Order: sequence, then structure tokens, then C-alpha cells
Amino acid sequence: MGILEVKNVSKNFGGLKALSDVNLSVAENTVHAIIGPNGAGKSTLLNCLVGKLIPDTGSVMFDGQSVLGRHPYEINQMGISRVFQTPEIFGDLTVLENMMIPCFAKRDGAFEMNALAPVGKQRDIVDRAEHMLDDMNMSDKRHMHAAALSRGDKRRLEIGMCLSQEPRLLLLDEPTAGMARADTNNTIDLLKEIKEDRDITIAIIEHDMHVVFSLAERITVLAQGTPLVEDTPENIKGHPKVREAYLGE
Ligand code: ADP
Ligand code: MG
Repeated sequence: MGILEVKNVSKNFGGLKALSDVNLSVAENTVHAIIGPNGAGKSTLLNCLVGKLIPDTGSVMFDGQSVLGRHPYEINQMGISRVFQTPEIFGDLTVLENMMIPCFAKRDGAFEMNALAPVGKQRDIVDRAEHMLDDMNMSDKRHMHAAALSRGDKRRLEIGMCLSQEPRLLLLDEPTAGMARADTNNTIDLLKEIKEDRDITIAIIEHDMHVVFSLAERITVLAQGTPLVEDTPENIKGHPKVREAYLGE
């Protein structure tokens, strides 16, 4: 049994079958990549895992518990954290203030914007946020406005914000989209470090095959809303159906 078990999940948008009968098992403490052409249903699948969408049929179990019908914040509290396709950070706040937000959420179960005001009275939160920034190698940037960070550092901050909640499953939707090669390589290194240092399972949707083959232990290929094949990176590389459907050969 995987930490994440998706069984027979289907999702229609009007007449469009975005997902049909998707089965996916993600083993604990592995990096599992989900690849497939544009419109294959990758983001829809992710949205079904985090409570943003409710599948029409099927089940989604995380660590033996159903996530279906739960609110996104409840699923987050169960231990699933998600990095969005475009970075979701507050540009007007400093790097440290951004990092404090999930630390409040972790401590209080909620975050209120005015909680940032009496920063001096929130020593435990500041300490926790600074510790996470240190882990992310971002301490030197803690007083910068987040908007001024490079694309790679925005992603690094966002991933750190997710990790501060100590998730057991980290979901990433195209984390290197739009990045220059150097930032992409930094992100790969960061994810490798995270994997080595923590008990964590990573499920990653990714377009860039360099990223996929650098990180993934298992790969599921999704095409037109259905898993085409699931295998090791070595086997996926040579798979004729994959080459035809996805790599365009
Ligand atoms: P991917 O992430 O693999 O590129 P998506 O999951 O975003 O694919 O989309 C799968 C299909 O579902 C696409 O045809 C897309 O246009 C459609 N789709 C996605 N979200 C919605 C929505 N909220 N309403 C209607 N159609 C949608
Ligand atoms: Mg997508």
C-alpha cells in the first residue's frame, strides 16, 4: 500500500473527460513523477488530491484515510502540502515575513494578517521561520522583499514555506516552469537535499525531462486523462508507447 492511493478516479468538465479511471499508487519516501502532454489531466489530478476539486467517481486515500469531501486546509493538516504552478508568495512582504505565515498556521491552525504586527512578541514564530530559512540557505535574503527574489529563489522560498508545515507528502506542479537552466538545476539540487534530509514523499508533475530523470524513482505517464504506463525511469525512457505519445517519436 502506498502512502497515496488513487483508485478509479474520474473527473468531467461538462462533456470533457479530464480524468477517466485513474489509478495511482505512490510509495512512501519515494519521488514519483507524473508526466504527460498538455491537457493530459495532470493538474486536475493534483487538484483532486488536495481538495480543490472533487472527483466524480473513485477514491483518494492518504495514509489509509480518505481525503474526499475534506476542505483543502484539512487535507493540508493531514500532511499533504502543495506547491503551485506559479509561486504563491506575498511580494510586498519580506522573505522572513513570508516564512512566518505557515509557521503561524502550523502553531495556531490559522493565520491572521495582523498577527505580523507585533513581531517582537512572536519570538517562537520568528525563530522557527529563521530556522527554516537557514535550512533553505536563504538567511542572507531574509529582509528582502519577496518580489525582488529571482524566480529560483521564489520557488525555494515557497517550497520552504510548504516544508515548515512538516508535510509527509509534498506535491509540486511543474516547479521549474519558466525557469532558466541555472534556476532549474538549483531547484533539482534543493529537492534532492530535501529528499535526503527528511522523511518525505514527493509527487511531482513536470514537463522538463531533465528534471524528471534527475529526481524520479517512479514515473506515471498520463495521456488524455488515463495512465498510459507506470514504471522506472529507465523503462519509461525506452517505452515505445511513451516515445510515441509523449516524446513525439
Ligand atoms: P495538464 O495539467 O495535464 O496540462 P489539466 O488537468 O490542466 O491538464 O487539464 C485537463 C483538461 O481539462 C484540459 O482539456 C483542460 O482544458 C480541462 N480543464 C481543466 N480544468 C478545467 C476547468 N476548471 N473547467 C473546464 N475544463 C477544465
Ligand atoms: Mg497543468
